[in-house]
Amino acid sequence: MRKTTQYLKSLDRKHVWHPFTQMKEWTSDEILVVEEGRGAWLKDTDGKWYLDGISSLWVTVHGHRCKEIDKAVKKQIGQIAHSTLLGLANIPSILLAKRLIEISPRGLKKVFYSDAGATSVEIALKMAHQYWHLKGENRPWFIKFSDAYHGDTIGSVSVGGIKMFHDIFSDLLFKTYRAPWPHTYWKPRNYSLNQWKNYCLTQLEELLRKKAKTIAGLITEPLIQGASGMATAPAGFLKGVEQLCRKYGVLLIVDEVATGFGRTGKMFACEWEHVRPDLMCVAKGLTGGYLPLAATLATDKIFRAYLGKYSEFKTFFHGHTYTGNPLGCSAALASLNLFKKKRILEKLQKKIQTLQSALLPLKDLSHVGDIRQKGFMVGIELVENKEKQVPFLLEEKMAIKVCRFARTQNVILRPLGNVVVLMPPLGIEKKDILYLANAVRESILKITGN
Ligand SMILES: *Cc1c(COP(=O)(O)O)cnc(C)c1O
Repeated sequence: MRKTTQYLKSLDRKHVWHPFTQMKEWTSDEILVVEEGRGAWLKDTDGKWYLDGISSLWVTVHGHRCKEIDKAVKKQIGQIAHSTLLGLANIPSILLAKRLIEISPRGLKKVFYSDAGATSVEIALKMAHQYWHLKGENRPWFIKFSDAYHGDTIGSVSVGGIKMFHDIFSDLLFKTYRAPWPHTYWKPRNYSLNQWKNYCLTQLEELLRKKAKTIAGLITEPLIQGASGMATAPAGFLKGVEQLCRKYGVLLIVDEVATGFGRTGKMFACEWEHVRPDLMCVAKGLTGGYLPLAATLATDKIFRAYLGKYSEFKTFFHGHTYTGNPLGCSAALASLNLFKKKRILEKLQKKIQTLQSALLPLKDLSHVGDIRQKGFMVGIELVENKEKQVPFLLEEKMAIKVCRFARTQNVILRPLGNVVVLMPPLGIEKKDILYLANAVRESILKITGN
């Protein structure tokens, strides 16, 4: 029997605790229950369609109900839904590992599966830590960047830097060094971008010079920090970070969870600056946005350190029950095949241009301080005072209100602080890109007044 929308909403209010959500407000807010998806669009239980402006929290790649992925998952269900990688192997996880290595930055040779971005980061941190242990060195520290986000498990939070999310848990976290992130908009006003970049690199080098021997690795989101509000770094910063890691012998862990699989216009953001990490984390777009699957990719150098007789106990003692899930892996394989077959990345370049041009008129709005775009990752920074660069107080919930209003324009958005985030599926059509940009402009105008 088809349950009514009202009934579903009341059950949701009664039983579901939503992530990153003030549940007191949730219970009084209008709830939208998604029932179906098609391409870049979502349908709610009242039959109303909305443009998915955030790719269902940054995961949808080709679109919802992608024919080829649907087919691949159904086919796999006809074979087996789950089988373990502890003591056994399975076909999709083998084939996917091969594909991932083919498309990833050179040097990465091994794939360790898990099921979320946060777990892929936990694994990278533990791999790096044990690597040094196996080498006979004790290196308990990691370097992170200010305002980093790597997920919500305790290890990932330890290397995160978003005050509002992370401060409450500070007693539970392991210690880290924090290096400054060269945010291209929130920078000292008397610094040029280049001076700012060099300042941040110098600070990082200072730290490495003193502490490198105690540091297992440095973890970074490449080119752009997602969750801190689409915080782009100046070109060349990532390369600079890589060079410093090499110079001081510290492992480079790149978190491509948000940026991977075409998001920035290349398969991985690392490619923009020809960076070759020691460990790379992927999740979100890996399965095209279908199923929870993640992977940590490692170099042979790291892998080999773990080899030995059973009795030496050099094993990487880590695993998750659903590691290498065949359904997830088959969805990922189908998604990656599409990238090749449909030349997704080539076609994306024009769409990125379209999005950029469509957003140009927003620059003139008096409360839009900055529009940061890296491929199909966009952050529109709302400010109280544009000339003086004064942010809105978070309590004013400006970006939240803008995203709320966008729903009346049939667009789904979710903000980060004062930043309105646009992350449409790569498969979005041109007319929908224009629709999205226009709806966002209307919403900002309506809420900020001008
Ligand atoms: C979303 C995100 C994560 C966490 O991924 P989950 O699947 O939510 O655990 C980690 N790193 C980055 C850069 C992310 O954007």
